[in-house]
Amino acid sequence: MALPWLHDTEQRLAQSFRAQRFHHAQLFCGPIGVGKFALAEQLANSLLCHNMTQHLLATANSTLMPCGYCKSCALTLAGTHPDKRVTQVDGQSIGVDDIRAISDFMHHSAAQNGNKVVIIENCDKMTTAAANALLKTLEEPSNSRFLILTSSQVSQLPATILSRCAKTDVKVTQLDVAKQWLEALAIEDYAWLPLFYSQPLQVQQWQAQNQLQNIDSLYKFATEFKQSHNFTELVTIINKQPELIRIFTLFLSEQLKQQLLQGMSFDAYQAAQQALHDFLQNNTQILGLNLPLAVSRLAYTLRK
Ligand SMILES: [Zn+2]
Repeated sequence: MALPWLHDTEQRLAQSFRAQRFHHAQLFCGPIGVGKFALAEQLANSLLCHNMTQHLLATANSTLMPCGYCKSCALTLAGTHPDKRVTQVDGQSIGVDDIRAISDFMHHSAAQNGNKVVIIENCDKMTTAAANALLKTLEEPSNSRFLILTSSQVSQLPATILSRCAKTDVKVTQLDVAKQWLEALAIEDYAWLPLFYSQPLQVQQWQAQNQLQNIDSLYKFATEFKQSHNFTELVTIINKQPELIRIFTLFLSEQLKQQLLQGMSFDAYQAAQQALHDFLQNNTQILGLNLPLAVSRLAYTLRK
């Protein structure tokens, strides 16, 4: 299913394809949960589809969409297309061996209609050696080889990689579209929901993982943080899912923005944002940090 807020982006990709301006290396940038990977999959499956090109040329305003019934589409639907390769890492880095395997894959002839497509999700996780190895592949473009990279931290990417890709900013341009999409998922109207209209798939994932209640608790902790002295439940939630510390600090940061609008001095605001930044850095980088202590210290700093 196509994601409605990506329609314009799909149109632009289709246009560049129709005009034969389509770059062999595509980089999709945007926040977590905006649908970069879904878009990369859709594009990859389209490039592999036997009918897509004719369809695209025959129908004005058509988007890049696989036909769904050709042999290639059957293979992508079954997850066994021999000309498609997806590299996804969970936490760890993308190493030089991963990139060498991709280069080998690209060099072999295609099994189906001639195109071969590689997706590298979160390509900012490449090590320096891996990025250097990928450069070689990027510098040898071929008509029938496509590389689709995604990243939510584009500032981490080497300039040499950036300059060799066609970059597309994937984003929710009309928040109403995302809002309606989330409403269709029957998600409760949480006060914090608008903060994630630009990351609808993140909210959908939380729903699937039964996390929405925890996120709501974090929001409530953030709104009462300065008055509160008991952090046990907060610490329990974060200890169970350390990645939620980013969400908690985001909520605190939003609180500070509100206070700035209500007359907090800019110096105090900046000092508080710095304290938040340090808290996040320390708790995502230093292992074994005493979280309860760090939380009460942060509350103390923000109270001042
Ligand atoms: Zn097809």
